[in-house]
Amino acid sequence: MQEKNSEKYYTTIGLEIHAELKTTTKMFCSCRNNPDETKPNTNICPVCMAHPGALPVINKKAVENVIRVGLAIGAEIADFSEFDRKNYFYPDIPKGYQISQYKYPIVKGGKLAGMDITRIHLEEDTANNKHLSGVGHPEIQDEYSLIDFNRAGVPLMELVTEAHTFETSEEAAKVASNFAKEYQLLLQYIDASEANMEKGEMRVEANVSVSPDKDKKWTAYVEVKNLNSFKSVEKAIKYEVERMIELFEEGKESEIVKETRGFDEAKQRTVSQRKKESSEDYRYFPDPDLPKMKLHEAFDLEKVKQELPELPMQKRVRYKNDFGIKDEDIEIYINDKELAKWFEEVANLLFSPPARGGVSEGRGGGSEKIKTASNYITSDYLGIKKFQPEARPLAATNFAELINLVTENKISSRATKDILAMIVIDDASPLKIATEKNLLQKNDEGELKGIVEKILAENQQVVATYKGGKENALMSLVGKIIKETNGSANPQVVIKLLKELIK
Ligand code: ZN
Ligand code: MN
Repeated sequence: MQEKNSEKYYTTIGLEIHAELKTTTKMFCSCRNNPDETKPNTNICPVCMAHPGALPVINKKAVENVIRVGLAIGAEIADFSEFDRKNYFYPDIPKGYQISQYKYPIVKGGKLAGMDITRIHLEEDTANNKHLSGVGHPEIQDEYSLIDFNRAGVPLMELVTEAHTFETSEEAAKVASNFAKEYQLLLQYIDASEANMEKGEMRVEANVSVSPDKDKKWTAYVEVKNLNSFKSVEKAIKYEVERMIELFEEGKESEIVKETRGFDEAKQRTVSQRKKESSEDYRYFPDPDLPKMKLHEAFDLEKVKQELPELPMQKRVRYKNDFGIKDEDIEIYINDKELAKWFEEVANLLFSPPARGGVSEGRGGGSEKIKTASNYITSDYLGIKKFQPEARPLAATNFAELINLVTENKISSRATKDILAMIVIDDASPLKIATEKNLLQKNDEGELKGIVEKILAENQQVVATYKGGKENALMSLVGKIIKETNGSANPQVVIKLLKELIK
């Protein structure tokens, strides 16, 4: 691949993302919408099997979910909307057309993760084709296909972004995969879709084009699909851009055609699947079996908006303002709702309310205790949990107690880590463990003085070295004293005493 040349080319990316909606029933019939159904062709009826005379009925919940997504991204909700027939012939589409939306999508505009959104429309999913050969049916020697209609007619929401131009393919790939990640989070937060990419509940397609001069000529758009992870989104875009540039450089620009290419995960390359139809080929027209929709009348949009849960962006801002923790920590909580809930419990226990008329040390800047708690959660606690299969959910009260002990200098950071490793397995009181195992730090100068004097007497040589100007010698004395107290002496207090006594 021609690394150097890629710097001379601009990359344009537009995304199309399909997401299966999490509804009880399908889009136009009362069949169950169950993505986990393992028995083929069980959730089917004359409507989703396209039997003659069967009539579709709009699933209002599905429409409402598209509206909720639209409101969450600050988009316009169309007043008038309708369904169209998208005609094409393929065995996974029993009617010979897919009910989709063409001119009048439910949602127009909006913004997310730095990309402008063109529209979001609603349609029905297709059946699943399984291409096999001999498996389970030895009498069939040749390759054959089976069709499972459980997915046919499941509500499918399609988001289309505007095309965005980038200086490099790396930047384009990063923005695209980040957008997909943010969109998945949003769908999960508002409970519109599980949006699991491996399960095909969210399918990302990228339209890619390159140009050496953005004001002049762009190559044809190539649609890249079969992107089963955020990593694949990035890799496929980078691969496709390099493939296009190589053809461009070799003067084979005419070989870059409007087509659909699938990303081959094993070979890490894109492969031509079919030449793309233009929208005229689909002969869209309004579906006469379905009523037109007046969305501003059918829904109380203000109420729908108010009932939206906290969105990822709002949660980021709240965590920053309320807890003052690091951005990296915030991202961990944004992506792990359970952990976030638990962290908030801990933070509420550690949060000290302002004294009457005083200013809170917590809200606004985030208290030191909460920051310390977050540090231990994101590094030590998650680290231990990862390698301890027997780890159990830890009571927020016990964890908060541990943080109180370390921030009030009652235990050392070493002891904190040790106790944490214990309570992750055996949820128990850290204070009780610290007392039993003699881990409470000795902060009392009177109590420590005798031990310091003893160590000084035993190590006259080291004292002399320190006096001779070797500052480091002091630390070796500190180490000996801490060892003498089984690790319970507070190093700060020990240093203070040593400096006082060596005069
Ligand atoms: Zn059905
Ligand atoms: Mn579609």
